[in-house]
Amino acid sequence: MAKEECIFCKIVKGEIPAERVYEDDNFIGILDINPEMEGHTLIIPKKHFKTILDTPNSLGNEFLEAIKNVAMKLIKDKKADGFNIIFNVNKIAGQEVDHVHCHIIPRKENDGMKLKMINGLRDKKKK
Ligand code: 5GP
Ligand code: ZN
Repeated sequence: MAKEECIFCKIVKGEIPAERVYEDDNFIGILDINPEMEGHTLIIPKKHFKTILDTPNSLGNEFLEAIKNVAMKLIKDKKADGFNIIFNVNKIAGQEVDHVHCHIIPRKENDGMKLKMINGLRDKKKK
């Protein structure tokens, strides 16, 4: 997909609305439009890279910092007890948006969450 058509590039530029919960020089954090749990956040670099494999190592520390900042905010604001922190890499692994992003999914005791993004992919493959 050309980066001009990329939905996350459009969100970074403010051309498509999204609920921003975090921003620094090189990353934004937005609430996922179809959350697995309340507070499900996507950390997205402002520059377009397809997957974590295409992302320069020089952004690594900042990526980690953004993830930790959002996770700590979710502990404080949403009383999260833990997280699933996920990168889906390529279509086969469930990547639907070809602009690297990290899912931070807050978890609580007895939240009943099943990882639909993985189960959904398995269901699709069976058809
Ligand atoms: P992937 O399957 O690529 O790892 O995850 C893409 C995620 O982006 C999905 O969880 C999906 O709900 C979310 N998403 C797709 N389009 C939009 C959008 O326009 N706005 C927001 N906030 N999230 C989106
Ligand atoms: Zn993009």
